[in-house]
Amino acid sequence: MSMHKPLPDANDFLPGPVLLLGAPGVGKGTQAKLLMEEFGIPQISTGDLLRENRKNRTSLGMIADELMSKGQLVPDDLVNDMVAERFKDPDTEHGYILDGYPRTIGQAQWLDTQLVAYMLPVVAVNIVVPQQVLLERITGRRISPAGRIYNIYTNRPKQDGICDVDGSTLEQRKDDTEEVFYERMKAFDAKTAAVIEYYRTHGGRFAEVNGDQPVETVTGEIRAALLKLRHHPDQA
Ligand code: ADP
Ligand code: AMP
Repeated sequence: MSMHKPLPDANDFLPGPVLLLGAPGVGKGTQAKLLMEEFGIPQISTGDLLRENRKNRTSLGMIADELMSKGQLVPDDLVNDMVAERFKDPDTEHGYILDGYPRTIGQAQWLDTQLVAYMLPVVAVNIVVPQQVLLERITGRRISPAGRIYNIYTNRPKQDGICDVDGSTLEQRKDDTEEVFYERMKAFDAKTAAVIEYYRTHGGRFAEVNGDQPVETVTGEIRAALLKLRHHPDQA
């Protein structure tokens, strides 16, 4: 008889705090929504939270709007305060999937101070996709008002321009142009690439996944990495 216990099912597995890292368009939001349903922990997307602030015309939303439309990052203190507010919600008690955060070393260091509240250490998954594929991902992206994500090339809705789930009209984000994409990639190279190295070299719970594969294949690889890192850190 084997001495090794099998890995638990996703159903009785609590991943704790999970970070999805990677350049704009690698599939963080798409994967976060699938994993959120599977593991029963919330997705926290700083991009979504900032767009909500913009829609509600809060003072943060007004500041963020200008920076987002140019593809620049919103200052760390503003984003950290927004995340701190979200962490107060009780649904984050057993963990969460952070998508699009942290994007700077300053944000990563601030997050470290918040993670002490969790029994489980953070797991970081870097999704990697070649840059030439990302341009099509970004310019082809369409979203529903409720935040469902489609792509006119790779993930088409059943009916053009209409959300499969609630029938709403799909929209294109105003920063999803070729011009702003290059600015966002510059911000990624200048600030966020270092965050990936931060998690690669600190703490050991880090995995890299090829995001240039069908959505469900990527989900499977992330799920496998989470299970392995939780039970056998340093080996994924
Ligand atoms: P991010 O949150 O990293 O910016 P998204 O999840 O919004 O990325 O995905 C960017 C675009 O790429 C969306 O239009 C989405 O439908 C599409 N997409 C996501 N994952 C894949 C995949 N594995 N293969 C093809 N297209 C994908
Ligand atoms: P996203 O939805 O993740 O593609 O983010 C859209 C835009 O929101 C980015 O280009 C930034 O302007 C801003 N943004 C989102 N998350 C962050 C963050 N963690 N730090 C700074 N700016 C952010």
